[in-house]
Parts: sequence; structure tokens; C-alpha cells
Amino acid sequence: MSGLGPNVVSTDAFAAPDRGALIRLRHVFKVYRIVDTGVIALAGVDLDIEDGEFLAVVGPSGAGKSTILNLIGGLDRPSAGTIEVDGTDLTLLGDDDLTRYRAERIGFVWQGAARNLIPYLNIRENVRLPAVTSHGSGRRRDADELLELVGLADRARHRPGMLSGGEQQRAAIAIALANTPRILLADEPTAELDSASAVAVLDAFRAVNQEFGVTIVMVTHDLVAASRADRRVRVRDGHLLREGIPVDPVDEDGRVRLPDEALPWLADAELEAEIHPDEVRLRRREGGPADA
Ligand code: ADP
Repeated sequence: MSGLGPNVVSTDAFAAPDRGALIRLRHVFKVYRIVDTGVIALAGVDLDIEDGEFLAVVGPSGAGKSTILNLIGGLDRPSAGTIEVDGTDLTLLGDDDLTRYRAERIGFVWQGAARNLIPYLNIRENVRLPAVTSHGSGRRRDADELLELVGLADRARHRPGMLSGGEQQRAAIAIALANTPRILLADEPTAELDSASAVAVLDAFRAVNQEFGVTIVMVTHDLVAASRADRRVRVRDGHLLREGIPVDPVDEDGRVRLPDEALPWLADAELEAEIHPDEVRLRRREGGPADA
């Protein structure tokens, strides 16, 4: 572990591995001004997101996750730094161009599906609506194809109120993709769902990611949801931390998380723990049942 502490690493860890990045954040700061003080929401974030990647941004409440999403989505502007999407620096765009960028390139899925759906239209009409209301430019996806992909083909004629929360959220994914955006931004999309519904929503994200190659950035504090993404980056106090789990080995309930690779080694073993000032050592107990 570096002398900087377990959670602090160089920005290289955030470079997309192979192809060029579709989204590139460099030294991004965001300070919200409240009366005469400032809240530092982001404190120098560097992040590359590859074209076609499904990325999870995880971290505790107030860490700066939504701020990152809002900046990538062109809903807000950084206080300093650059945000490049497909070679365009969003910080150089005027308001009209930023609005066009948002409309043409970005799909949003928020926590709480009701926010995404019009209650008196059926699901197919809801999915067709972005095509009707946008001004004639750009390609459209077929509503029935989208509903099929997210597993809602048999709900096309239902109104939102007749659907479960998870089904509404899958409808929201279909709506977000109707105008063929290249990037799908999702803020806590499974937060209000039971685990079975959450899995169905995550399956829908994966399906559209594979079918359309759409790049997905999903903010979540749900580690199960995060585990379904291709890659995870962790945010805390406005900083990006090393990707992967465990970065912060102790969760909010004080439980220590171990890497997946440790699980076969631990299975059925009797363990002894030694607590040291800067680490906890686990050792198989001599002569225990799994001490092979
Ligand atoms: P997260 O999504 O991880 O919960 P946010 O990005 O929403 O975190 O917020 C990061 C920090 O910025 C928090 O301290 C939050 O209170 C603050 N913040 C976010 N939006 C605003 C705003 N519009 N005005 C003032 N402070 C804000």
C-alpha cells in the first residue's frame, strides 16, 4: 500500500484501459456557493470512461457522485477543469449548444421512476413521446423494440400506474434511449426497488449496453448494483478513489469487506484474526477442518 494511505492513488488508475476515452474529466472541481461560503463537491477529479463501457460510480451520500453525473450530462458546469465528450470540451459550449448536447447525446434515468413517466399515456406512448416532442432531427428507436429489450413487450398498453416500480424504471430506460443517445446516465436507479426488481432493472441496463453499445454511467450506493457494471470507481469527499472493491474495506455497518479472490481460500476455514495498528491478519487455524 502506498504511503498516501489505502484510498489515494495516482490518476492513472482511472484511465480507460484500451480504446480512447469517450468521456474524459480532467482536474474537475465543483464548488457550490452558499451565501458567502463554498461547498467543495468535487476536488480535482480525473476520470476516463471508455466508449461502450458500463461504469458504476459508488460512494457515500454527499460524496459528489451526482455532481459528476450532472456535469457529464451538461446539466451543470464545473468551477474548473475540463470535461471532454467525444472530443468536445463541454466547458467551451454556449448554453444553446449545451442544451443540444443534452438532448441529442444523453439519456437520463433518475431514482424514482414516476419522475420519468407521464401517467395518462400508456407505456408505448411514453416511449414514443421523446420522438414526438423533439424537433425532427436525429434518429429514433422503435418503441416496441426498446420495450422488448427491457422485458416490457407485454406491458406496452399499460399505463404507468399499472406497473410495478421496477417495471416503471425499465420503461424509463426505454424512454431514455428513444432518441438514440450515446450515453445513458443513471442516478440511483435501483434505490427504491426490492432486490428482484433491482436485478431486472440491472439486466435491462446490460441488455441495452450490449445491444446498442450505449455507454452507461450509473451512480449508486448499492454494492450489488455496482457489481453488475464493467468497472467501479469510488468517490469520497469530492475525490475519486481507486477502482474496485474493497477500496474502503469497512462499510457503513462496520463490516470488513474482503476481495472476491479471498473467498475460495476462506470457504469452510476456521480463522484466527490478529489486529495490528494498520492491518488485520487472517490466518487459517492450525489443524482446522479446512487446513489443507
Ligand atoms: P452524492 O450524489 O454523492 O450524494 P452530491 O454530488 O449530490 O453527492 O453532493 C456533493 C456535495 O455537494 C454535498 O456536500 C452536497 O451537499 C453539495 N451540493 C450538491 N448540490 C448542491 C447545490 N446545488 N448547492 C449546494 N451544495 C450542493
